[in-house]
Amino acid sequence: MSSELTAPIGFEQHDHRACVESALKAAETRCADEGLRLTPVRKKVLELLLVEHRALGAYAILDLLNEAGFGSQPPVAYRALDFLVEHGFVHKIERLNAFVACAHPGANHSPAFMICRLCDAVAEAQSAPSKGALGAAAKAAGFQIEKTVVEAEGVCPACLEKVDV
Ligand SMILES: [Zn+2]
Ligand SMILES: [Zn+2]
Ligand SMILES: [Zn+2]
Repeated sequence: MSSELTAPIGFEQHDHRACVESALKAAETRCADEGLRLTPVRKKVLELLLVEHRALGAYAILDLLNEAGFGSQPPVAYRALDFLVEHGFVHKIERLNAFVACAHPGANHSPAFMICRLCDAVAEAQSAPSKGALGAAAKAAGFQIEKTVVEAEGVCPACLEKVDV
């Protein structure tokens, strides 16, 4: 599982090895603090998603788990994903029916995603559902927003460079 030190990931150049390591450490610390069980398979699924920075479907995750020696039983992958999504380590991208590791672990947030339609790279931004035009409309209607799904599709900087401009 080698990853390039610098990859255009989350659309930004960064030290990806350190990024994966610190995110795994943060997950371990949070699980220890909150009494959550980060079992080997849960940790592996999180690591696979962190390494990719890309949306992966459940079956792609299952294949990678299988390669990593965790077997190929779909319930194993689904249960691990359920745990990771429930506790905010991983988000589900509805439009792709796929999963991506959270880029802001620990923070209670409403993610907003930018999804590259060419390479499936995903960048996560924070959104504030109670602010902005939607927030104002909700306020006027007396509606309390609990969750919003923001998924923007487009072309990432790396792919834009490849496509002729
Ligand atoms: Zn990274
Ligand atoms: Zn997130
Ligand atoms: Zn792309």
